[in-house]
Amino acid sequence: MSTPTRWTDDHFVAGDIALDFANTVFRRTPELGADLLDSGRSLTGWFGHAGLLPPTDDPPAATEGALPAARRLRDRLWVVVDSQREGGEVPADALTGLLEQARSGVVTVTADGTVRPRSLAGALAAVALAGIRLVLTPPPRPVRSCDRCGWYFLDTSRGRRRRWCSMKTCGNQAKAARFRDSHS
Ligand SMILES: [Zn+2]
Repeated sequence: MSTPTRWTDDHFVAGDIALDFANTVFRRTPELGADLLDSGRSLTGWFGHAGLLPPTDDPPAATEGALPAARRLRDRLWVVVDSQREGGEVPADALTGLLEQARSGVVTVTADGTVRPRSLAGALAAVALAGIRLVLTPPPRPVRSCDRCGWYFLDTSRGRRRRWCSMKTCGNQAKAARFRDSHS
């Protein structure tokens, strides 16, 4: 059995839980990188790190079965986020898919609007709800994607000039590449 992805805060840089979930691939551009949601344990580990489920090292075997739904959810997030970023209409089938995912798990919502899942299905529902909220709440949120790896993030920087998912990873690598180019 392969070791599950070891999630760190560097995987949670988007500023929105739906975008963080959409970023669960090594990179999105220039070509799709390795899938970090590579097992049920990676999936439950992600929800544990995200604070949506209690952390566990020993998830029930049924979590393997949730992987296809999780990847489908991620695909739909890519579609709705990309269509909105490109200034187009959100495709109805992708939005319907998010709505279906949202109703297939039980969550509780606290008075301040915090969504608390009750189960793995609920955690997927919580991510779907976050995605729906992201695209349905006007005005559009400033979603950008990293110049280097394509990960999404909310650009809340002054002047909207953030270019990297994280300075620690892509920002520094891009700077190093520029340094190499100018010294070769
Ligand atoms: Zn990046």
